[in-house]
Amino acid sequence: MFRISDGSPLCLMVLYPEPPDRSLRLEAIQISLTGAMASRFDIYYRVHVQKIGWMGWAKNGASAGTEGYSYRMEAIQIKLVLKGSSAPGSTSDTFRKYIAPPAPNKGNPANPGHKVIYLTFDDGPGPYTKQLLDVLDKYNVKATFFVTAAYPNYQNMIAQEASRGHTVAIHTYTHDYAKIYASDSAYIADMNKMNEVIKAQTGSYTKYFRFPGGSSNTVSRKYNRGIMTRLSNTLTANGYSYYDWNVSSGDAGETTSTSQVVKNVTSGCAKHDISVVLQHDVKSYSVNAVEQIIQWGLANGYTFRAIDASAPTVHHPIAN
Ligand SMILES: [Zn+2]
Repeated sequence: MFRISDGSPLCLMVLYPEPPDRSLRLEAIQISLTGAMASRFDIYYRVHVQKIGWMGWAKNGASAGTEGYSYRMEAIQIKLVLKGSSAPGSTSDTFRKYIAPPAPNKGNPANPGHKVIYLTFDDGPGPYTKQLLDVLDKYNVKATFFVTAAYPNYQNMIAQEASRGHTVAIHTYTHDYAKIYASDSAYIADMNKMNEVIKAQTGSYTKYFRFPGGSSNTVSRKYNRGIMTRLSNTLTANGYSYYDWNVSSGDAGETTSTSQVVKNVTSGCAKHDISVVLQHDVKSYSVNAVEQIIQWGLANGYTFRAIDASAPTVHHPIAN
């Protein structure tokens, strides 16, 4: 703990001798102000960590750096600002604690009855889908993609998703609420149009889908009262299965921070034996969270699976 006290010059001297045991490294710091300084200023600081680079700004005694990675802290920046004024940049990802490396993973065998995570990605494929597929391959994790035609240049990624063992499902062609929820037939036409794209890319149609906004959406009320009840009944009666989620990553507006997405997903999954996670592979900050989510899941005994006939549908209560 370094303290800058009232009356001290505004400088910080860090004595950083080579420790006798060379495997010891200074990994993290906490800095706080005291006395009149603390009432007038906030102190922000960030550290440059070996192999990671600059981390986010920490404030007033919070930890900055890492713990348990065996990475050395290489540089420090410190800024004083008048109490309550804005931070000198992003304050996310200030401190990382060691995440155990993934256990040897022999193909994620189906493990019913055990803890299972279904990662699902909506609204793609898009510019970050390839990066996501590569991360999933690295850990041999299978996931589910509820696809749209939002990015025509990336449509061939749908074929990639299927050929790499993931489940491809429908999320509508346009994802345009006003259009799809205008009438039952408008929804079904749009959905069928997407199923044609899926057929062209993967060789077969799918019976799995997710409603834009989820089955509990209330936005459809604006366009057509009762449409969610009718569509869910009609489509289910025709052999389609729809899937909602019980863990939300918050990546659709609540946050744009990768570390917050990791936090939302891991804390959500910790509450369930079987989780269906909602993420969007058109958001880079969400795709960037996936590797840490997988590492956390594997280290904590979860099996990752793609949606299939045995998966829980996790239906939300219909609100229209
Ligand atoms: Zn969507």
